[in-house]
Amino acid sequence: MVGGLGLAAWAASEQVRSRSAETAAHNARDVAHESAMDAEKARRNVERLYMVVQAMWELLQDKVGLTDADLEAKVREIDMRDGQLDGRDATQTALQTCRNCGRALLSGLAHCSWCGAQADGGAFHHSR
Ligand SMILES: [Zn+2]
Repeated sequence: MVGGLGLAAWAASEQVRSRSAETAAHNARDVAHESAMDAEKARRNVERLYMVVQAMWELLQDKVGLTDADLEAKVREIDMRDGQLDGRDATQTALQTCRNCGRALLSGLAHCSWCGAQADGGAFHHSR
């Protein structure tokens, strides 16, 4: 039989349980929001990177006279550095993590795409 004190204790524990569920839901929402912000930040960084690469390529075409064929040959050569023509250079994909935020660093970038901290090795560093 549940006495008045037992009922009060049960109600209190239910309240605690409900509050911790609420806190967990808030935390999950915060994590989801943070992930969405990180994804948006990464997308903007990729867009910016694309624009910089495009600018560099147009300058090289205009000032040096390089052609799309030159670029394609170079991309192919880099792709083949790991022995496989698969659209990626596996010698550069060993994941390093940011010293500041601990997230995965995209190779070849001077700064962490997540927090902006300086990456080890700097831009276009090749660890070979
Ligand atoms: Zn970072």
